[in-house]
Amino acid sequence: MTEIYDEFKLWDLRIEVVGDQDHMVCDHKVGDYFELSGENLRFPDGQSFSIYSLAALLPLLPAKQRMTDMNDWMTTDTEVACPDPYCAARFRIIRTGKSSFRHSETTVVPLGQTGNE
Ligand SMILES: [Zn+2]
Repeated sequence: MTEIYDEFKLWDLRIEVVGDQDHMVCDHKVGDYFELSGENLRFPDGQSFSIYSLAALLPLLPAKQRMTDMNDWMTTDTEVACPDPYCAARFRIIRTGKSSFRHSETTVVPLGQTGNE
């Protein structure tokens, strides 16, 4: 058996609409969701999702995919507000499991280069 020396793990995420449906301004529906594994988003068939909400979420998702310190707020805080200040929707980011990836399959930069010098 060949040992995989360049494996790393990321959390798989499910982002779900939560909150008070009666006070949502945008076209969100409680329970709507999408999933993220690695670099790929998956939406259920026929379900739409606001581009403004997606734009608010996207900067946080790669951080939420990584293993974080238990004292880091990125570990404990799970809800993001809709960017429309009049909308009551929240988006709950749920870590559903971990997937394994290989460095050599995700970049051409060799292992050992950190850019931290
Ligand atoms: Zn909204």
